[in-house]
Amino acid sequence: MFYAPDPGSKPLSGIGGNVATNAGGMSTVKYGATKDNVLGLKVVLADGREIKVGGRTLKQAFGYNLTQLFVGSEGTLGIVTEITVKLLPIPLGTPIMGVAFFDDMTKLAKAVTAIRISGVYPTMLEALDGNTMVALDHYEHTTYSDNSGAMLIFKIESSTDESMAVLKELLQKYEAQNVELTTDAPRQAALEQLRRDMLPAVFAGQNHIMEDMAMPLSKLAPMMDYIHDVGEQLGLKIYVAGHAGDGNVHPTIVWPKDEAMPEAVNQALRLMFEKTLAWEGTISGEHAVGMLKNQWNNAELGPDVDQLQHQIKALLDPMGILNPKRKIN
Ligand SMILES: Cc1cc2nc3c(=O)[nH]c(=O)nc-3n(C[C@H](O)[C@H](O)[C@H](O)COP(=O)(O)OP(=O)(O)OC[C@H]3O[C@@H](n4cnc5c(N)ncnc54)[C@H](O)[C@@H]3O)c2cc1C
Repeated sequence: MFYAPDPGSKPLSGIGGNVATNAGGMSTVKYGATKDNVLGLKVVLADGREIKVGGRTLKQAFGYNLTQLFVGSEGTLGIVTEITVKLLPIPLGTPIMGVAFFDDMTKLAKAVTAIRISGVYPTMLEALDGNTMVALDHYEHTTYSDNSGAMLIFKIESSTDESMAVLKELLQKYEAQNVELTTDAPRQAALEQLRRDMLPAVFAGQNHIMEDMAMPLSKLAPMMDYIHDVGEQLGLKIYVAGHAGDGNVHPTIVWPKDEAMPEAVNQALRLMFEKTLAWEGTISGEHAVGMLKNQWNNAELGPDVDQLQHQIKALLDPMGILNPKRKIN
C-alpha cells in the first residue's frame, strides 16, 4: 500500500505541513492533492479542546465536512495532532516513465492538455521551460537544454498497448522531439530526482520569488504565452516549471543576491495574478497563501466569501492566536 501525495518537497516537509497547506505534488494529476487523501484528523482548537473530525471511512454524511475545512487552513484554525490518511494498493504492472522535448512551453502545454483529456491517465506530467533546463544543466552537468525550449517528464502506471499508442500519437501530433521511454527503475528514479532538483537549481545563488498559479487546463497554453510576454515586456528572466498536468505553474523570477527586489518583479506578479483571475485560475494552487498573498483574498474569493472566511476564523480563533496574519488578512 502507499500514500499517494508526492510533493516535490517530500524529503524536506512533514505530513502536518502537507495537511496544513493542502500540498499537491507530482502525482496530483492522478491521485489528487492532500485533501483527497485525508480521511480524518484530530485537531487542538484555540480554546484547548481536542476534536476528532472525519474518520476511517471513505464516506461520511453526518455534520459539515470539517476535515476539509482544516486541510489547507495553514494552522490558522487549529493544530493538527493526528492524521488518518487513505492508503492505496500499489498498481499492478511496470510503470513507464519518459521525457519529451518541445520547441516551447506553449506547445508542451497543448500536448499536456490533449493527454489529460485522452483517457491515458498519467501519474505525472511535469514541465520545465528552457530557462529552467539551462539552470538544471548547470546544476546537474547535463545537456538537456541544448536543442529544445521545454521538457516534459511523464509517468504512466498500468499502461496498456492502446494507452501507449495514444500517448505516442499525441506527442507526435504536438511535435515532441527526442522522446525517451523507460521502464528501467534507476533511470526512472533519476528522472524524478531531476524534477525535484529543479527548484534548488533555479534558486542557486540568487534571490527569487516563486509563484504558484493553477489554471483551468484550457488556459494553460495561453498562460505560457502570457508569462513569456510579461517577461519580455518588463525585461525579466522568468523561469517557468511545475505540475503541468494540474494546470499548476510555478513562474520564478530571480534577481542578484545582494540587491533589493526590483519594482518590475512586483509589476510582473500583479500582471500574472490579474490574468490568472481573469481566466478563472487561482493565484495559489498548493504553496499556501501565508502573509505574502493574503492581500489578494478579496480579488480571488469575492467580498462575501472573504467575509465568511473572517467569520469562520473569528468563531474558531476569537483571540487570533493561531498563526496570526496568515491566510486571511
Ligand atoms: C524544493 C521545494 C519543493 C516544493 N514542492 C512542492 C510541491 O510539489 N507541492 C506542494 O504543495 N508544495 C511544495 N513545496 C512547498 C512546501 O514544501 C509544501 O507546501 C509543504 O506541504 C510544507 O510542509 P512543511 O512541513 O515544510 O510545513 P511548514 O513550512 O513547516 O508549515 C507550513 C504551514 O503549516 C503550518 N503547520 C505545520 N504543521 C502543522 C500542524 N500540525 N497543524 C497545523 N498547522 C501546521 C505551519 O504553521 C505553517 O503555517 C515545495 C517547497 C520546496 C522548498
